[in-house]
Amino acid sequence: MPKTSFHTIVIGAGPAGLACATTLARAGRSVLLLERQPRIGPKVCAGGVPASTLALLAVPPALIERQFARQQIESGWQRLELTAPEPMVCTVNREKLGQWMAQEATAAGVTIMTGVAAQTIDHAGVHTTHGSFRHEYLVGADGSSSLVRRHLGLPVERFGIGLHHQLPGTFADMAWHLNPRHFGNGYAWIFPHRESGSVGIYSANGNLPPHRLQEKLHHFAEQCGIDLSSAPPRAARINFDYRGWHFGKVFLIGDAAGLASGLTGEGIYGALLSGEIAARTILDPAYTDQRLAALLRQHRLHERVLTLAGHHRWTCTLVLETLVTALRCRMFNHTALELGG
Ligand SMILES: Cc1cc2nc3c(=O)[nH]c(=O)nc-3n(C[C@H](O)[C@H](O)[C@H](O)COP(=O)(O)OP(=O)(O)OC[C@H]3O[C@@H](n4cnc5c(N)ncnc54)[C@H](O)[C@@H]3O)c2cc1C
Repeated sequence: MPKTSFHTIVIGAGPAGLACATTLARAGRSVLLLERQPRIGPKVCAGGVPASTLALLAVPPALIERQFARQQIESGWQRLELTAPEPMVCTVNREKLGQWMAQEATAAGVTIMTGVAAQTIDHAGVHTTHGSFRHEYLVGADGSSSLVRRHLGLPVERFGIGLHHQLPGTFADMAWHLNPRHFGNGYAWIFPHRESGSVGIYSANGNLPPHRLQEKLHHFAEQCGIDLSSAPPRAARINFDYRGWHFGKVFLIGDAAGLASGLTGEGIYGALLSGEIAARTILDPAYTDQRLAALLRQHRLHERVLTLAGHHRWTCTLVLETLVTALRCRMFNHTALELGG
């Protein structure tokens, strides 16, 4: 008879859910990790992370696609090359990262069920496409359209949208293009991987119709001489509407909690960190972690910058040009703004 009762059920096997489940299982707790997709990993994502993020996981070097000690930043008025003595940002392939994290989770003793969607949650447990399961703790790691979040009655009112093409070929530099005339308060990017590159666009206005985003991206690619036709576009929502993470014996982590940055759309760091912290809090309710406070401070700062930029092109230009100038003058560490590190 398969086991139907677990200490913790984690819904969603993205970086947040995998980090949480593995930490709990390593401490000897019985954990069920549910993933609705048949395979773990292939999430729509450009895979850009600060070098420091990967230290959270001790990721094997072979999983790193490319490392960058240089980044190009272009705004309407300025062009800037940021350099550092050591690589500051890396790219990872989400599928490979997910597969590696799933192996770690399995080795730790997590029961992983793929192709199983959680459908409803009530006092009796989690009801899925493949039966019902009971739990003491429930963790919502189910991304930007989280069922667990809905179960808690928390809406998602602030979300962005990211759209990219993972194009085969070689791309030299990591590049960010912030130009309100073309991208509003978002930006376009080129993130090189080993044998491909993510070329995409982010808008903090999640209600922008995907075809408008696609048009803007096509215009950008044309200007850069990039042919987007060799890979299909893929888009997804990015929830940055943070309203808490700890609700008694129910937790929200990663995008389900709205921990992605509204300014950059970056969420891997927040997903990994909140996954680990939720697990440690389940293990020890008195656990506190300064890194979460720092993440939330940064999240609020990004929201304030977004609000300041507003949707008007001129305020947006002023705010983004000020940011690029501040980066130029090294008034803050670029990773603190761009990639959550
Ligand atoms: C185009 C694009 C580019 C991006 N680029 C970057 C980047 O360069 N760097 C960065 O840091 N972030 C980036 N992001 C954001 C990043 O992908 C997310 O912040 C990150 O994946 C969040 O991790 P998560 O574990 O919280 O959620 P997810 O990775 O979304 O994982 C949630 C999982 O839950 C599963 N699930 C959902 N509902 C259910 C259910 N009912 N039952 C079972 N399983 C369920 C899903 O299938 C999914 O596997 C990008 C996003 C987009 C859209």
